[in-house]
Amino acid sequence: MNIPFNKPHLTGRELSYMAEAVVNGHISGDGGFTKRCQTILEQSLGVTNALLTTSCTHALEMAAMLLDVKPGDEVIVPSFTFVSTVNAFVLRGARPVFCDIRPDTLNIDERLLPDLISPRTRVIVPVHYGGIGCEMDTIMDLAGRHGIAVVEDNAHGLFGRYRGKLLGTFGSMATQSFHETKNLHCGEGGALLINDPALVERAEIIREKGTNRSRFFRGQVDKYTWVDLGSSYLPSDLLAAFLLAQLEAAESIQGRRRDIWEYYATHLAGWAQEHGILLPHVPEHCDPSWHLFYLLMPSLDDRQRLISGLKERGILSVFHYQSLHVSPMGERFGGRIGDCPVTEKFSSQLVRLPFYNDLNKADLERIVGSILELY
Ligand SMILES: *Cc1c(COP(=O)(O)O)cnc(C)c1O
Repeated sequence: MNIPFNKPHLTGRELSYMAEAVVNGHISGDGGFTKRCQTILEQSLGVTNALLTTSCTHALEMAAMLLDVKPGDEVIVPSFTFVSTVNAFVLRGARPVFCDIRPDTLNIDERLLPDLISPRTRVIVPVHYGGIGCEMDTIMDLAGRHGIAVVEDNAHGLFGRYRGKLLGTFGSMATQSFHETKNLHCGEGGALLINDPALVERAEIIREKGTNRSRFFRGQVDKYTWVDLGSSYLPSDLLAAFLLAQLEAAESIQGRRRDIWEYYATHLAGWAQEHGILLPHVPEHCDPSWHLFYLLMPSLDDRQRLISGLKERGILSVFHYQSLHVSPMGERFGGRIGDCPVTEKFSSQLVRLPFYNDLNKADLERIVGSILELY
């Protein structure tokens, strides 16, 4: 039996909740299930407002609109991230300024930010890689002093903490992904978390095609009309029904992921040290969200040999982000080889191990056993 890299977890309640949505007769956006998901997110995270969206990509696009990002503005992003972190702002005409990552956590290197900030900098977008928090104290302090907004791309980090505070609660906004590769999912989905109350009303408008429809449904206006920019970012209540099953099971899902993460960390530590391989580093003041587990192999060659060796044994491991500053699009914004050396190096050495809730003990033994034999 092959061990895939990812297998979307099911709690067992998804289908009955979806059936309930059908029977309720409300399967467009903002139905009862959407409200229940948003309430859980708001209460468990303590954010002012949580709005379900069709994806994390769309939540990032909403954030860029809400901040009125415009041509000429600069947005500081890590080069080691998913394209959407950057695209959402580029869509509004902004120029991305790529920041290298820390060699320990692979998060945006806050020590480089002072040199990247210019009078045109409008936003910094930290990505909590693997659900291990960026250095938020330094980032928030710098941003505050320069009047720059912070939007956390928290696609990996739901329920992770930095100095005891939940990831996604630092910036004026944060974005979540419920894509099937994430800890909790509904196939495709996301959320915009809002920590600045002044942004809530306009966020509802942007998410509702630029209309004040949400106010209309609450009886705050007697008809609804076009009032601002907007698009259609509401997921169907069918997907929210699926997601509710996952959110209700968050504690056990996270607990199982923690066990898997710790199994890898414990059983690979000695081997890694002996072979000069790096495992994820968790600073003492960070509680991870147990999103992924990676190895940093000594070279690209070693990485490729391990991936193909595991594949021959029916185990799927994968690499991750390629440096965005030297992608064809990144080069159009002036990105050059050498700009972000840590990103360039680690993106060619990193391999992610299978990571999903239904991995059992025998699977884990087989994966770790194979790694030890292969390298
Ligand atoms: C998965 C991911 C996204 C995109 O999420 P979607 O919900 O698929 O749009 C954005 N940023 C990061 C860091 C991600 O891992």
